[in-house]
Amino acid sequence: MSSQSSENPKNSQLVLPGERLGVIEEFIPDDGTYVKDGVIYSKVVGRKTVDFSNRHVSVQAVAHGAPIPKIGVTVMGQISNVQSDNAGLRIFAVGNQQLSGVFTGVLHISDVAMRYVEAMFDVCKAGDIVRATVISDKNKTYHLSTRDKELGVVYAFCTNCGYMLELRRQALHCPNCGRVEKRKTAEDYGK
Ligand SMILES: [Zn+2]
Repeated sequence: MSSQSSENPKNSQLVLPGERLGVIEEFIPDDGTYVKDGVIYSKVVGRKTVDFSNRHVSVQAVAHGAPIPKIGVTVMGQISNVQSDNAGLRIFAVGNQQLSGVFTGVLHISDVAMRYVEAMFDVCKAGDIVRATVISDKNKTYHLSTRDKELGVVYAFCTNCGYMLELRRQALHCPNCGRVEKRKTAEDYGK
């Protein structure tokens, strides 16, 4: 019996059919995969597993009916990185259902709010928890929107000291160090 994944399966990446897993020079394709022109792809919606001891890559299909993000649904994610015109998220829940792995999503600056947004850095920061809707799944990427007032950052943390920020009169205040920060908050921020 081969030792299973060296990754923590709880945090392993969820992949979609047709998603690129690697090339045959680096991995040996196993269950749930197919190869085309030397590239290994996933055949199913599931959890990518890499066994580094024998270089096997496989995808364990997620249970039928398990939640995956779809266009129109509301998802919860944590901001992983912020650039000048977009932010990357790790989607961890669809509606109220926790996912057994992580899908990645992108929030583009034009989909943040109804009004014009100048800088993504005023919208969200790495570590923030965000509620968003899926507007597209083009190129295997979940494009998200936080335009509606119930969407946006629901929990944010002080970039100075890490305390959870409190919403007071449209601005987020750190109860620990007094820092004031900006976000595109959801109307129920902090609740
Ligand atoms: Zn602080």
